[in-house]
Amino acid sequence: MSIKNFYKYFPLKQYGQNFLINKNVINDIIKIINPQKHQILVEIGPGLAALTKPICQFLEELIVIEIDVCLVDLLKKYFFCSKIKIFHQDALNFDYKKLYFKKNKLIRVFGNLPYNISTSLILYLFKQIEAIEDMNFMLQKEVAERLVASPGNKSYGRLSIISQYYCKIKILLHITPENFQPIPKVHSVFINLTPHKNFLYFVYDVNILSRITKIAFQNRRKIIRHSLKTLFSEKELIELKINPKFRAENISIIEYCRLSNYLYKKFNNLKKN
Ligand code: SAM
Repeated sequence: MSIKNFYKYFPLKQYGQNFLINKNVINDIIKIINPQKHQILVEIGPGLAALTKPICQFLEELIVIEIDVCLVDLLKKYFFCSKIKIFHQDALNFDYKKLYFKKNKLIRVFGNLPYNISTSLILYLFKQIEAIEDMNFMLQKEVAERLVASPGNKSYGRLSIISQYYCKIKILLHITPENFQPIPKVHSVFINLTPHKNFLYFVYDVNILSRITKIAFQNRRKIIRHSLKTLFSEKELIELKINPKFRAENISIIEYCRLSNYLYKKFNNLKKN
């Protein structure tokens, strides 16, 4: 079966299969990724190899993770397949850290992500951030906007805080729906996430940061004196130089980190006493 026929008749919605078809967009993405021979690159969801094939040319080996067995079989038939190491697996279960230890090198992850798993995948990758050099992803525009949002912006929320805690994030391309087949209902954005080299933000325990932001954003319009009252008194908020009348959406990442570290110390002192 030709590639043309495959994407016309068999794309699976459950796997978010919207294949890239515009050569110019593909070239722009490759320029951004700028793969180098010595690097360890991992592609999530190679699909019909729109990015896989051109990127392969720059590398000795390209690791790809594909969940759809039909696409895995198709990939194995391509002439360039000797260069790709295929994992027929869910990218949400892949052990990126193990790969990093095996190769003894930080890995670069990229892909035109299936939109239904993009947020979970990014959060999953953050848990293995020590293994990662950078990530280059195509995402639904709204998800990308949430990733880069600043306080006060309507897209600012837990995802923005956790993502910017780990990475510097840049929106690099805006891509319209007709560049994919089948044509998706949403607009897309290509982004780069690079883990901070130095601790731009620091928390003792990221689970506490996650918990505070979860509670704060359960009702983003509520003032935090009310929404966080089970965790902090008004006096504590003032001591931490955080305006108790602010809403979750007005509090900066540094301020959330300050709240987390205060709580961490409070719990640990309680444990000791
Ligand atoms: N890279 C190709 C392109 O740009 O044309 C395909 C991109 S398509 C948006 C998403 C790809 O991810 C599909 O090949 C799909 O089968 C695969 N996929 C979906 N869910 C996955 C998962 N959980 N793990 C690995 N691959 C997945």
